[in-house]
Amino acid sequence: MRAARLSDRLRVEEIDSPVPGPDEVLVEVHAVGVNQLERAVMNGARLGAPALLPRTVGIDPAGVIVAQGAAVAGDHVGERVAIKPNVPCGDCGFCADGAEADCRRQQVVGVHRDGGAAEYVAVPARVAIPIPGQVPFTVAAAAVHSVPIALHMIRRAGGIRPGDTVLVTGATGALGCAALQVAAGLGGKVLAGALEDEPVDGLPGLGAAAVLTYGRDDADGLAEQVRGHAPDGVAIAIDATGSGPLISAGVRSLAWAGHAVFAAALPGARLDLDPRELYTRRLTLHGSAAADYADVRDGLALVADGTVTPPVAAEFPLAEVVDAYAMAGRRDHVGKVVLHVR
Ligand SMILES: [Zn+2]
Repeated sequence: MRAARLSDRLRVEEIDSPVPGPDEVLVEVHAVGVNQLERAVMNGARLGAPALLPRTVGIDPAGVIVAQGAAVAGDHVGERVAIKPNVPCGDCGFCADGAEADCRRQQVVGVHRDGGAAEYVAVPARVAIPIPGQVPFTVAAAAVHSVPIALHMIRRAGGIRPGDTVLVTGATGALGCAALQVAAGLGGKVLAGALEDEPVDGLPGLGAAAVLTYGRDDADGLAEQVRGHAPDGVAIAIDATGSGPLISAGVRSLAWAGHAVFAAALPGARLDLDPRELYTRRLTLHGSAAADYADVRDGLALVADGTVTPPVAAEFPLAEVVDAYAMAGRRDHVGKVVLHVR
């Protein structure tokens, strides 16, 4: 089969199709997202356990189950599925509690085991989540990583009450778009933040009540801009950039007892926070990563019922995987780059 492999560089190679293990399913891949996570691996940034190369990339494939291991209960051949990228261990206390996002022994498809930028991928059956309704494979692949993570961030921050104002910084990226759409879909009034040279024209159509822009090295004015729209501050500040100044500005933008949540940190990022503000104003800062199974099921349900429609910035054939990753690394588009495998 053809697979996009990362070794000294990224290229499409001909390799043997994987054989599913006893607890695994074999998925015929139709589409797979192009993610910053793998770019970080390619650039040598550490992400927990280091990735061993060569590796087939592709963390979030969607396709059809064509075979299953002997220990998989039921008959799943023919099911349309999207793959939860993080594979929880399944037997720690967090997993037992349904808090799989916090499992310390999770592995990532396409990082710690071969991924789905290939004609076939074998994954543990428990991370092959049925695609609800008529959601196309391309949309399912665009959604299955970012939408559940955005939903998990919002839930970790205590959820949204109708009318709550929510700040999303980094709103043009795949995670930012998902956070914007999920927060708006749950009844929040969303202030969408983006760099001043990013394409923001489409953000109101995704549900943004207002668009706030800032310079690359200038997050200082953001909190003041927020107060122009929300004089008491925002209930939740969601950062999708990993920028220390933007995360800090989000905390400074919070209303009384507000929650700030972030799911990435750029190398060298530092926070500039006044601890007096945190305790006197009852503020909470959450670090968030991955998602629970419930977030994946509920996130895909939000896509199936039309609450969230992940924007697909571009689709590339597998043969053009290098161009696809190059585009995903730029900030000149809104939403997700997807590889169309078949
Ligand atoms: Zn676990």
